[in-house]
Amino acid sequence: MHEHAHGRQHIEAMIRNQDLEGLLEQAETLHGHLCPFVSLGVKAGQYAMEYLHRANTGMEEVVAIVECNNCFTDGIQVVTGCTFGNNALIFKDLGKTAVTVARRGDGQALRLIVRPGYRAGMLARYPAAEPLFQKIVVERQGTPEELHRFHHLWAAIARRELQTPLKEQLHIQHLTITIPAYARIVDSLICDACGEQIMATRSVEGNGRTLCRVCAGARVPVLNGQGIGHEGL
Ligand SMILES: [Zn+2]
Ligand SMILES: [Zn+2]
Repeated sequence: MHEHAHGRQHIEAMIRNQDLEGLLEQAETLHGHLCPFVSLGVKAGQYAMEYLHRANTGMEEVVAIVECNNCFTDGIQVVTGCTFGNNALIFKDLGKTAVTVARRGDGQALRLIVRPGYRAGMLARYPAAEPLFQKIVVERQGTPEELHRFHHLWAAIARRELQTPLKEQLHIQHLTITIPAYARIVDSLICDACGEQIMATRSVEGNGRTLCRVCAGARVPVLNGQGIGHEGL
């Protein structure tokens, strides 16, 4: 046997070295911009991963249960390595900016919750940000120049917020949880109508035919910016 190098070694090193700036830079590549909540996600992820002390190679060694789909979640995905694609990211549609990071084996977990009033306090600390935030993020207006200024300011705040003590931003609970079973490998079937391959667990049987949900006209669960819902009928 030999030691396998894995793709997250540089991230694991940043976690051990508490290199929050390096981790934030990594998160920007996924998230597309820097903002205070991606910065908080990075900090929460770093704290949890250092505490749990378990390398994650994307084989569900660690799972992250997020309670919102926002900027925070992208910081979590990059730092913990728990992603939508490797099945280690679990989404509970609770609308809370919070995450539980747990390790397989003993179920040791931390739940980190952004403190109520964090956003208001943060905006109050950076008075230039509040009117721009209102105009650009809330009202989706603003000139290209204002948008540009906002991006710079938001990125500067994201970096500055790395220095704020974690416990002023996040409340931390220590838990032991039951980790969900590993994602199952299931058979594939072919839809008799469109000919596309589908997971057997998502097929619809009727009148001796195997159909995908679209061809069967079934309700399709959808996760989008509104949360989890259904599309079509
Ligand atoms: Zn963001
Ligand atoms: Zn089909």
